[in-house]
Amino acid sequence: MLNFPIYLDYNSTTPCDPRVVEAMLPYFTSAFGNAASRNHPLGWQAEEAVELAREQVAKLIGAETKEIVFTSGATEAVNLGLKGVFETYSGKGNHIVTCNIEHKAVLDTCGRIEKMGGEVTSLKVKPDGIIDLKELEAAIKPSTILVAVMYANNEIGTLMPIKEISAIAKKKGVLVFSDATQAVGKIPVDVIRDGIDLMAFSAHKLYGPKGVGALYVRRKDPRVKLTPQIDGGGHERGIRSGTLNVPGIAGFGKACEIALNELKETGERLRLLRDKLENAFLNIEETYLNGDKNQRLPNVSNISFRYVEGDALMMGFNKNIAVSSGSACTSASPEPSYVLKALEVGDDLARSSIRFSLGKNTTEEEIDYTIAEITSTVNRLRELSPLWEMYKEGVEIKQEEWFHH
Ligand SMILES: *Cc1c(COP(=O)(O)O)cnc(C)c1O
Repeated sequence: MLNFPIYLDYNSTTPCDPRVVEAMLPYFTSAFGNAASRNHPLGWQAEEAVELAREQVAKLIGAETKEIVFTSGATEAVNLGLKGVFETYSGKGNHIVTCNIEHKAVLDTCGRIEKMGGEVTSLKVKPDGIIDLKELEAAIKPSTILVAVMYANNEIGTLMPIKEISAIAKKKGVLVFSDATQAVGKIPVDVIRDGIDLMAFSAHKLYGPKGVGALYVRRKDPRVKLTPQIDGGGHERGIRSGTLNVPGIAGFGKACEIALNELKETGERLRLLRDKLENAFLNIEETYLNGDKNQRLPNVSNISFRYVEGDALMMGFNKNIAVSSGSACTSASPEPSYVLKALEVGDDLARSSIRFSLGKNTTEEEIDYTIAEITSTVNRLRELSPLWEMYKEGVEIKQEEWFHH
């Protein structure tokens, strides 16, 4: 039986796994202690829960427990990682290299750092959504202190060559930060193998609760130092003050433990379902895949249905299927997505794009329904479109004619 709406927006957020909720519950009520209370069992119990979670989180990414700093989510972890490095290493330099399809958390933090006197180079990705390693190497200069490149892109799912990126950075003595929020829990991530020095990720993208995340901070080869961005009681080794969200952290830990056990199987299953969905859509005339077909996450497909505006398409089926359009990320503005613009696909294709992101509750029945529903909606909308008529008659369409009828 189908449950509506069919949720294909797992890159936005995921439901909590019931095992995660179960792991969290005691810490709201009976085991409500403050993990920083050293004088009584309730405090010790909370601290134990946090330290178990720290082990579970560290294990998923191949880190040591002391290298995990709990935060309120990936956005905070990104802010702490980037600003913390910028402040600490200002004696060495002020230059950061990043790329133009990073999540807003990274782009806007880099913007802030520029206002604080930093210099930021934003590498342009190639049309496949991946940075050019030669351009990266050329961008690094004596004042460079950090390379910040995402592990997996949230809109198109493409994977950056992190190992190669960190090899280049290491050779030049530059630290590597990665926003791995979309990768952790979906594909194997190992900070040692990948040569990452700082890494941000979030519980709610991997079937954990919202409002909790972590920053990985390498402690040896090299030992990374950070200037705290939140001052207070000295929690998290003084790097991030504030009473710990014990239930959230316990849930995050459980979610990481589950992901470690199930990620491979889930990934393989979702890849097959994703490919079924994608192939069906790519069989429709004038549809295009955005981003590299091979080097990407197993659960995402970003497709442009030319001659149909993404928002109109969503309106056509939105009650039944929950997805994101290429202009939905900042829903208030109808601007096409900056990620798709960066791929230089053209405004027409950027504005007709839909991101499908599958998750572990996705069923084949849901995929079959989605294929049928969206195929018929695309056909119906195209029949109403003067541009589609022009295309069918072989009339040339100028870029400015798109969506101005
Ligand atoms: C969701 C997401 C974030 C933000 O994470 P929050 O925990 O919601 O702050 C950052 N980067 C990427 C790539 C994301 O997908």
